Amino acid sequence: MYVLKAGQVVDGTGKEPLSGAVVVVDGQRIVHVGAPEEFGSGGLDGALADAEVLDFGIGKTLMPGMIDSHLHTSFNGEPDYWDIVFKQTESFRTLTSLKNVQADLRAGFTTVRVLGEKSHLDIALRKAIEAGIVTGPRLVCAGQNITVTGGHADIWLTPDIRFEQGLGGVIVDGPEEVRKAARQQLKAGADLVKLLVTGGVMSEGSEPGLQHMSEEEIAAAVNEAHRVGKRVAVHAQGTKGIQTSVRLGVDTVEHGYYLDREGADLMAKRGAYLIPTLTARDASAVHDDKVPAYVLRKSKEAGEAVHRAFQYAREAGVRIAAGTDAGSPHNYHGRNARELELLVEFGMSPMEAVVAATKTAAECLAIGDKVGTLEQGKGADIICVDGDPLTDISACRKVGFVMKEGAVVVKDGSPLFRA
Ligand SMILES: [Zn+2]
Repeated sequence: MYVLKAGQVVDGTGKEPLSGAVVVVDGQRIVHVGAPEEFGSGGLDGALADAEVLDFGIGKTLMPGMIDSHLHTSFNGEPDYWDIVFKQTESFRTLTSLKNVQADLRAGFTTVRVLGEKSHLDIALRKAIEAGIVTGPRLVCAGQNITVTGGHADIWLTPDIRFEQGLGGVIVDGPEEVRKAARQQLKAGADLVKLLVTGGVMSEGSEPGLQHMSEEEIAAAVNEAHRVGKRVAVHAQGTKGIQTSVRLGVDTVEHGYYLDREGADLMAKRGAYLIPTLTARDASAVHDDKVPAYVLRKSKEAGEAVHRAFQYAREAGVRIAAGTDAGSPHNYHGRNARELELLVEFGMSPMEAVVAATKTAAECLAIGDKVGTLEQGKGADIICVDGDPLTDISACRKVGFVMKEGAVVVKDGSPLFRA
C-alpha cells in the first residue's frame, strides 16, 4: 500500500486541483483520493502501519500517468528514417522499440497507442510487457497499417519497393481485401485497426488532400472492427478524406490537418476523436538536410491549415486527445510532453491540455474505465511532476516519479528498471 502526497493533486477530470489531498494505492488500484481523514472509517492512521508514505512536498503535483495517443515505436525520430526501414533487421527494430517505449514511460507516459508497426512487433512487445518480461508502458496496438496500392506509405516508397516489404503494412484493393487485412490484424491481437485513408506529408508523390482509400474500403474495415468491439483509427489529413471517414463511422481521426468547419461539426456529432499530432508537424518543419524537401514543403503548407483546423475542432466541441506521432523526423521518444505545450500554444488552457493527455486520451483508447484519471477504483497510473502544470504546462516535462499499475517505475527522477 502506498500513500502519495504532494502540494496538489490534479486528477485529470478537469476539476479544480486538490490541495492537502493524498492518493492511496492498494495493489494495482487507487483506493482513495482526497483528504487523509476521509480515508476509510478511521482516517489514514490505522492504514499507515503497512503503507509506504511518499511525500513529494510542496511545489510538486500528482496527476494521472499521461497517455500518448499516437506514436510509432521502431522509429527513433531520426530524420533519415530509411536507415531504420531498410537497413535494420526485425530484431533490431524490436529492441529499438523497447528502448523507445521505455523513454516514453520515463517521461511519465504510462500508456501509448502504437499506430502502425512492422510484422506485429508492437503486439509482441505489448505481450512481453504484460507478462512482466520487460518494463514498459501499457501499449494499445494497431498492428500493421492498412493502405491501398499507391496510397499513403505505398507511394512513399520507390516504385520497385512496396509498403508491405518496406514499412511492413498491408496493401489492399477492394473491400474484401480490406476485410481480410483487418481480420488479420485482429487475429494477431491488435486492439484496433488503422487505415491510411488520405495522402500524407511523409509520402513522396502523394498529397495530403488526396483521398486514396475508397468509401467501400473504409466501410468494410469499420464494419469488421466494430462487429467485434474494436475501434478504427484513420490517417486522414485532407478535408474530404476526413469527412468521408467520419461519415462512415471511424472512431479517431489522426492528424486532421485540413479539417474544415463541416468536418468538425460532423466529428462532434458522431463523437469522433481528433488527434492533431501538433508535435509531428512542428518537428518535421525543422529544417534539416536529411529531411526530404517534399516533407518540408508539405509540412509548411499544412502549418497554415492546422491552426484553422484546430480552431474549427474547438468551436465545434470535438474531443481532442494528445498524441505526438513520436518517431517521425526530429520527434523523439521521451519528449512527448511537448504536445501539451503545443496544445496550450494553440489555445487550450493548461487544464484542458492535461485532460487531453489523460481523461480524453484514455476514452479515445477505449480504456477510460481503467485509467486516465485519479479516482477511486481506477488503475494506479500516477506521476509526480515538479511545479504546477496549470500555471506552466512545461512542468509536465519534469517528471520525477512514475507509478504504473501500482508499481513504482521511476523514483527521484531515475528509472528503477533496466532494458
Ligand atoms: Zn503516425
